[in-house]
Amino acid sequence: MKAGEHPQTEPTSIPAHGDRGAEPLRDDAHGQGHEGGTVTPSTPVQYVKGVGPARARTFAHLGVETVGDLLEYYPRDWVFAPSPVKITQLRPNETASVIALVESTDDQNYRRPPLFEATVSDDTDTCRAVWFHGGYLRNQLQPGQVIMLSGKVALFKHQLQMTNPKFMVLDEAHTEPDLYFNGGVYPASAHLSSAQIKRIIVPLLDKLDDLVCEFYEDDFRKKNHLIGRKEAFAWIHMPPDEEKLAGAKRRLKFDELFLMQLGLALRRYRIQHFSSAVACTCSDEVDSRIRKRFPFLLTEDQDECIAEIVADMGRTEPMNRLLQGDVGSGKTVVALYAALLAVANKTQVAIMAPTEILASQHFISMERYLKNSHVRRVLITGGLTGKKRTELLEQIKQGDVDVVVGTVALLQKDIEFRRLGLAVIDEQHKFGVHQRADLRKDGAPHCLVMTATPIPRTLAMTAFGDLDVSILRHAPPGRGAVITRWVDRGHRKEAYEFIRERLKVRKQAYFVYPRIAAVEESGKDIQAATDAWKELAEKVFPEFHVALLHGQMPSAEKQRIMTEFRKGRIGVLVSTVVIEVGVDVPNATIMVIEAADRFGLAQLHQLRGRIGRGESKSYCLLFAETDSEVARSRLDVMTRTHDGFEIAEQDLRLRGPGELFSARQHGLPDLKIANIIDDSELLVLARKHAFALAARDPMLAQAPNRNLRRTLLARFGDSLGLADIA
Ligand code: ADP
Ligand code: MG
Repeated sequence: MKAGEHPQTEPTSIPAHGDRGAEPLRDDAHGQGHEGGTVTPSTPVQYVKGVGPARARTFAHLGVETVGDLLEYYPRDWVFAPSPVKITQLRPNETASVIALVESTDDQNYRRPPLFEATVSDDTDTCRAVWFHGGYLRNQLQPGQVIMLSGKVALFKHQLQMTNPKFMVLDEAHTEPDLYFNGGVYPASAHLSSAQIKRIIVPLLDKLDDLVCEFYEDDFRKKNHLIGRKEAFAWIHMPPDEEKLAGAKRRLKFDELFLMQLGLALRRYRIQHFSSAVACTCSDEVDSRIRKRFPFLLTEDQDECIAEIVADMGRTEPMNRLLQGDVGSGKTVVALYAALLAVANKTQVAIMAPTEILASQHFISMERYLKNSHVRRVLITGGLTGKKRTELLEQIKQGDVDVVVGTVALLQKDIEFRRLGLAVIDEQHKFGVHQRADLRKDGAPHCLVMTATPIPRTLAMTAFGDLDVSILRHAPPGRGAVITRWVDRGHRKEAYEFIRERLKVRKQAYFVYPRIAAVEESGKDIQAATDAWKELAEKVFPEFHVALLHGQMPSAEKQRIMTEFRKGRIGVLVSTVVIEVGVDVPNATIMVIEAADRFGLAQLHQLRGRIGRGESKSYCLLFAETDSEVARSRLDVMTRTHDGFEIAEQDLRLRGPGELFSARQHGLPDLKIANIIDDSELLVLARKHAFALAARDPMLAQAPNRNLRRTLLARFGDSLGLADIA
């Protein structure tokens, strides 16, 4: 008997595979409201068929509030049952589906393990289906039923059998094999299974005409190989095949990235065109006067960054630029150039750092270059109070001070400038859109953000997506190499001896202790550092001056210790990570990082950046015991390379973008389907088109862009200040 030669004699109600039929067998009968009548993307999920108040609460926990959210509740995986074949076509070790009649069932619960067996047949042959621990099936499977089975085929005692197949009874109402065997697998919760979610989402796919609108013109879609947005939603939830699924993923990822980039592009457009800064012109005379301040020639990278900054500052659109470069790459010099340019144009400059230590560091290095200059500069610290403070604030307000250095917290609080021309924000390794946004409240100075964390390109495009980026890739010449070693417990003594030899020739060392609590420095951290300090001071290096520094010391005390260390009077500085920020002591050539396995790559790199600043060789010793794969690969990366950008890429890979970058944290909507690592090419494409569109139609007022505008407003709300295009 050959398959397909005989007309089917079994019940004719079996739906042919692939034919979803004009009347899909869904339980629409009890639907409230009219088909397609009132559902919009903003309809609360509660009113979607099959949801109701209780499930709406469950959905809320999954981040789903509206019908629009539901459509964007994307499957985490997809299954494709093979099309049904005839039983004679089954082959061992293949995965297959058949539609067959249940001839008999047998509940063999006396066996170990217990079995439930069914013999099924079609017009070509008979086979067995076996379920281990399948006793529960005795009430579900009965002779005479027509079922669809899908699963792995095996040969057992010369007989074909399907083991633990997925199955569905076809002659009941409310069944649709496609829905059951194919489609998305959803991230479920304890109260809502993937299958339940699917039953709720799939009926919505019939209403996509009302729910989804196209953003792009056909031409644009064709050029960029993007399928329609409606199809994309239909196929992401119920893909007919792998290829269509791929098309749907690509389109939806693109849209997500495009909307994000468009939000950033418009935000940037607004800053540039709705506020104005003082245009700072740079003559040759000013340029050479500034350069004379530096006792060295600027590097090519520095010159390039300065040229970009000078071009920006020459315009009335406020500069909005990120200056990226490893610790020691020469950012301070570039920032100082910008500051002096602003001062030459009779405006004031605010230089802000995340901590007081860093602020005073900036002030000190500035002093180094500004000896005998007429630039009036002040450092504002938390310790400054009373009359002195009031006087100083008054001077700033009157414009009697040119450059003000302080922490972000201090400078943002209550300082009024007469004519602020430039704000330099040193974020070190903290990123964030809101900090910059805060600053823009009063006036709109040119803005230069500095960060010492090399940020992978794709991350910069998102976290700092509204900024222009300048990069210092190569450090200034004359730096000694930094050698990094991973030291385990067995080699600790040796390491101490090695350090002792360096200390004897008057080199200095940092010992850094990790953060024990997750975010802030805790009492435990301080205890750990304090214990270590005692041990080092009393037992390991009694002949040298070992000092302790932690974040909760009074600020005057911290200053004093840093000064002593800078002057070389302290040999070993033991600290918590609070002081990880760019301290510059070229004579410190040794860094020990305790429990290095607990630090992320970016942080290790950051810490290591504090050595290798002088001409002699430096050593970074990573003390760690670990069995963790990730920790080991991190330590390996550290010993292998010093390239900040490579380390940043590795970090992003090892940790995933989630940890390093959470969109929400930056005032951007979270990404639901795209991923900035895996979809970096799409990100670049989306960014290019989004910025081009923002330049072409910044109000999104042209007819083809109206849908886009609506969607964008719904998505970002006013978080990026887009309300005025509404
Ligand atoms: P960053 O702020 O990026 O950490 P800095 O601007 O503080 O780096 O520079 C680090 C060190 O390199 C400083 O001691 C500085 O004097 C020195 N330096 C900066 N630019 C140059 C240069 N072009 N040539 C030589 N040394 C430089
Ligand atoms: Mg610096």
